[in-house]
Amino acid sequence: MSDLLYLRDAYLRSFTATVTAVDGEGGRVALDRTAFYATGGGQPHDTGSLAGMRVTEVRKEGDHVWHALEGGPLPAVGDEVAGEIDWDRRHALMRTHTALHVLCGVIWNEWGTAVTGGNMEPLSARMDFEFDPLPEGFGATVEQRVNEELAAARPIEVSFLPRATAVADDDLIRTKVNLIPENVSEIRVVDIVGLDKQADGGTHVASTDEVGRIRVLKTESKGKGNKRIRIEVVDG
Ligand SMILES: [Zn+2]
Repeated sequence: MSDLLYLRDAYLRSFTATVTAVDGEGGRVALDRTAFYATGGGQPHDTGSLAGMRVTEVRKEGDHVWHALEGGPLPAVGDEVAGEIDWDRRHALMRTHTALHVLCGVIWNEWGTAVTGGNMEPLSARMDFEFDPLPEGFGATVEQRVNEELAAARPIEVSFLPRATAVADDDLIRTKVNLIPENVSEIRVVDIVGLDKQADGGTHVASTDEVGRIRVLKTESKGKGNKRIRIEVVDG
C-alpha cells in the first residue's frame, strides 16, 4: 500500500517517491508514497506534476494509488520521481472540506440533524441533510452561524485512534463511526475543536479562519426527509 503522506501533513506540496507499478495502457503509475489526494470521501483528486509530466487524475484501486500522467514517456518501476501538487486547487479543496465539516457541526448543534451526503469542488459544495421541512429562515441562519464559527479560528486537529477507542466516543458515534469496516484497526479523526469531530480521510486547513467565509447559494428539496444546501467559499 502506498504511504499516503497527506493523511499526516495536508500542507506537504512536494515529495520524492519510487515508482512501484506502471500501467502502460492506462498511462499511469503507482508510487511507494504520495502527497497526491485520490478521489474519495466527497473530495476530488489533486492535480500537479510528477516526473516532469502533468498529473490529470489520481485514483485509489486496491492497494495502489494510480497517478494518470500526460506529456511524456512513463517512468519505469524502480525510478525515483519528484512530485508537486497544484497548491491553489488543493488549498481551495482544503478550505471547502473544512467549511463542510463546520456546516455539519453547526446544523447538528442548532437542529440535531444529520448529514446524508455531499460533494465538493474547489470553493463550492453541496450537502444533504435529513430535514423535513427546512426550518424557516434556514439559509440565512446557517450562513451567519457558520461564518461565526469560521471567524472564531478554531484549531483543527488530526489524530489516529485505535478502533475500540473511536467507537466508544460519543461524537464519533453520532457520525456513524461504527459503519467503518471491522478490519480497520486505526481510525483517522478530524476534530474541529469544540465544534465537530468525524472519522475522515480528507485534507483540511489548520484553523477555521483559514477557510474565509461561506455564502449559501441555494436550498432545495430533494424529496421527503432530504434537503440540499449549496454553498460557495469566499475570502474572509
Ligand atoms: Zn470530510
